Amino acid sequence: MMVKVEEKLFQNRYRVDAERPHIRIVKPDVCEYECKTQQCTVCCPAGCYTLEGNGKVVLITDGCLECGTCRIICDDYRNVDWEYPRGGYGILFKFG
Ligand code: SF4
Ligand code: SF4
Repeated sequence: MMVKVEEKLFQNRYRVDAERPHIRIVKPDVCEYECKTQQCTVCCPAGCYTLEGNGKVVLITDGCLECGTCRIICDDYRNVDWEYPRGGYGILFKFG
C-alpha cells in the first residue's frame, strides 16, 4: 500500500521549544528586499517558511524536521541561523 508523505509526517511528534526557536532569520529585510528567489518558501518540506503577500518571509519552526535544507538553500545570503533544538525538544521521529 502506498503511504503519502503527509501521512508519514503526521506520525511524527513535535515538542515546541517556545523560549528558544532553533532556527532564526537573521535579517528579515534581506529576505524581503535582497533575496531574489526566496527558495526557503518552496524547499522546506515542513512548510515552515511562508511568503506573505507583502513580500515578507515568515518563519514558524513548529513541525521542523531538522533537515537543514533551509540553511543550505540560503547559502548565498547566510541569513538562516540554525542549530539543533535543545535536548528533549524538537522532532520525535516515529520509524516504521
Ligand atoms: S533563502 Fe534565505 S534570504 Fe532568501 S528568503 Fe529564505 S531565509 Fe531569506
Ligand atoms: S531544517 Fe528543514 S524542515 Fe526545518 S525549517 Fe529548515 S528546511 Fe524546514
